[in-house]
Amino acid sequence: MKKKQELYAGKAKSVYYTDDPNKLILFFRNDTSAFDGEKVDQLDRKGMVNNYFNNFIMQKLEENGIETHQIELISDQESVVKKLDMMPIECVIRNIATGSLCRRLGVEDGLDLNPPTFEFFLKNDELHDPMINDYHIRSFGWANDAEIEAMKILTFKVNDILSKLFSDAGLLLVDYKLEFGRFNGNIVLGDEFTPDGCRLWDMETRQKMDKDRFRQGLGGVVEAYEEVALRLGVKLPE
Ligand code: C5P
Repeated sequence: MKKKQELYAGKAKSVYYTDDPNKLILFFRNDTSAFDGEKVDQLDRKGMVNNYFNNFIMQKLEENGIETHQIELISDQESVVKKLDMMPIECVIRNIATGSLCRRLGVEDGLDLNPPTFEFFLKNDELHDPMINDYHIRSFGWANDAEIEAMKILTFKVNDILSKLFSDAGLLLVDYKLEFGRFNGNIVLGDEFTPDGCRLWDMETRQKMDKDRFRQGLGGVVEAYEEVALRLGVKLPE
């Protein structure tokens, strides 16, 4: 597989064309950013840890019947994925209230949400990823009814699978963001699942083990990601 020109550079990943029109290469960089790119840093090993972490989670999801874009890991910081027609939508599920939900609705931080809640956001940095609803998605043609329904069902199915996986490792899956795309008529999970895009708390101490460590300047960011990987049984190079 030949890596070709860059298709897109996100805040922590770069995406490249390959000589196969149906496949892309994701390059997980060491860059980390928060607050729409206002706070940025380079964290040693982060790209590698996230690449292995994401590959592990995507495999677990595939084993449990979720179609993902992941094909295979090809180097410490790169994976080959199916080229999806991405929808500009972020799907968020929250099992515990924290972050923007508390800021927006004034609810208590740490409140268990039963049932979990679901939100759509528009993927648009300039607009700071505003919250949107099903009607916006239909009116602006970002996705149709069936696609909206599929995104909700798949995001909740991922919640069942991953809440169990993390809880078996002594971690609470607090919330997370997923992105989907179209591939051969199916709605397929794209982007990544890493501690950059979810919140994970230690079950006993409620210590934060995710990107909130970076957002809140708590330090030990990559160390926390590696601890989560270790608990899950993700094999990382020395
Ligand atoms: O900031 P907020 O509380 O809305 O984030 C909810 C969840 O979605 C968090 O796990 C956060 O890391 C993730 N998220 C993300 N990318 C965004 C917005 C939120 O990964 N652009």
